Amino acid sequence: MHTLEDFEDFQACVQHWIAELGLYDWVVDIRFDPLDDEPTVKARCLTNWTQHSAAIVLNSAWRPGSKSATVAVEGMERVALHEVLHLAICELVNLSAQQRDAYCDPVDAAEHALLRRLMRALPPAMMPARP
Ligand SMILES: [Zn+2]
Repeated sequence: MHTLEDFEDFQACVQHWIAELGLYDWVVDIRFDPLDDEPTVKARCLTNWTQHSAAIVLNSAWRPGSKSATVAVEGMERVALHEVLHLAICELVNLSAQQRDAYCDPVDAAEHALLRRLMRALPPAMMPARP
């Protein structure tokens, strides 16, 4: 279960990475909403790539499950970075997908392979000091 404090950390880290990656050409709404049909998913990046608008959602209905055991120990800063990286390569992924009939598993696999490489290379976000 994510708390409001988790969301504040998540929001700060998303804003940090948007700034670091210079994603100012996107209108991004950072939300704390339930992803009811995806209780084991911590967060989601929903994009409209042709409009450059996105919602990065921390799942308020998240429940740790066996499949997400490794994700459960992942900090908010890593979850935030993962979602912002989806945004950073969104256009590339969608253009790739257009080369086929639909968004497909090979594109998704290639996207996640790139995300893992970037996440190994990039330093963690500094957590903001709490009052
Ligand atoms: Zn992902």
